[in-house]
Amino acid sequence: MTGFDLHGERHRLKQLTDDGDTKLFENRDGVACPACGEPFGRLFVIGRETVSFPENDGSRFCLVHGDDTVHLFRH
Ligand SMILES: [Zn+2]
Repeated sequence: MTGFDLHGERHRLKQLTDDGDTKLFENRDGVACPACGEPFGRLFVIGRETVSFPENDGSRFCLVHGDDTVHLFRH
């Protein structure tokens, strides 16, 4: 598995935010996380070198590296 096919799954995700380098999507159709195979709740697409995350409720995260982006899946 290499990366995540965002374009292929785009119609199954609802985009919540886009600040240019990062994008946040909500999973609205049970799309499976490529790292663990379980459906994820939200997808954070990171296109810059550094990012910090706000506090969360302890949900599990999975990371998938692409060529120049990191996909972070929150369950
Ligand atoms: Zn996962």
